[in-house]
Amino acid sequence: MTEHAFSNVAIVGAGTMGHGIAQVCAMAGMEVRMYDVADAALQRGLDAVHANLDKGVDRGKVSEELRDAALMRLAGSTDLETTVDAADLIIEAVPEVLSLKQALFAEIEPMVEDTAVFGTNTSSLSVAAIAGALHHPERLIGLHFFNPVHIMKLLEVISHPTTADAVVARVCAFGAEIAKECIYVKDFPGFATSRLGVCLGMEAIRMLEQGVASAADIDTAMVLGYRHPVGPLKLTDMVGLDVRMHIGEYLARELNNPAFEPPALMREMVASGSLGKKSGRGFYDWD
Ligand code: NAD
Repeated sequence: MTEHAFSNVAIVGAGTMGHGIAQVCAMAGMEVRMYDVADAALQRGLDAVHANLDKGVDRGKVSEELRDAALMRLAGSTDLETTVDAADLIIEAVPEVLSLKQALFAEIEPMVEDTAVFGTNTSSLSVAAIAGALHHPERLIGLHFFNPVHIMKLLEVISHPTTADAVVARVCAFGAEIAKECIYVKDFPGFATSRLGVCLGMEAIRMLEQGVASAADIDTAMVLGYRHPVGPLKLTDMVGLDVRMHIGEYLARELNNPAFEPPALMREMVASGSLGKKSGRGFYDWD
């Protein structure tokens, strides 16, 4: 049997990111338990893993054996303690609210072994602030995955000042097992990815506001001119205008840099419910 860096992984939050992280861990041979406060959200997450794996089989990317084995290793629950009690790695993927993430880790810490490691999938919040909720903050590290998790190769690993070296080394082995390429980043607002990505997105919206070019042409400029796989406005639609607006506000404040300030057009679109792909309308029509 293969030795894993972590053999029992608990995923807290079964949404867009949580179910994807659960899937890649189960495919890599780890036992996975996934938790969500909402029964319907948990079921949606489990169904999404099934659907992704079935699609993989249909496309010849995943064998039937691997799909079946991964599904056997994945269990869901709405009971937090039974989800985490045997886990040696707990990854949270709950909404981007500092107090929520802190409260969850504080609740989980007494439920797990002293050797368990905590990972946060935050896209922008201070990892040190999240770790501050623990009696042993050295056990927590940022594990920033990308959407869709089973396709995107990057894992951004964020150490805060007291993250233990042994935790970094274990997480590095874990990243290789789930076939991700890790980059190592300091706990600085926006890390490497969100800081650059959100900055480009905000500038593209300002250009649209100023009538420089259409949304499609601004995106094509980056796709064909800079070989980006997707343009900054379409990407903002895919992530969600509301999500990006909150990250922009946070980064403008934390980095004291107006380039991150959400443009008026973005604020108007969010206020009117044009949130991008998830609402059917954003810079593009998704219906
Ligand atoms: P989501 O809204 O799709 O999923 C969040 C899930 O958490 C929901 O199913 C919700 O029911 C559940 N939840 C809420 N409160 C909970 C609690 N107390 N305990 C357990 N579950 C709870 O959100 P998401 O897009 O998956 O984002 C999750 C995290 O990942 C955020 O921190 C976000 O910033 C980060 N992230 C998102 C993306 C992205 O592209 N969506 C990419 C990278 C990182």
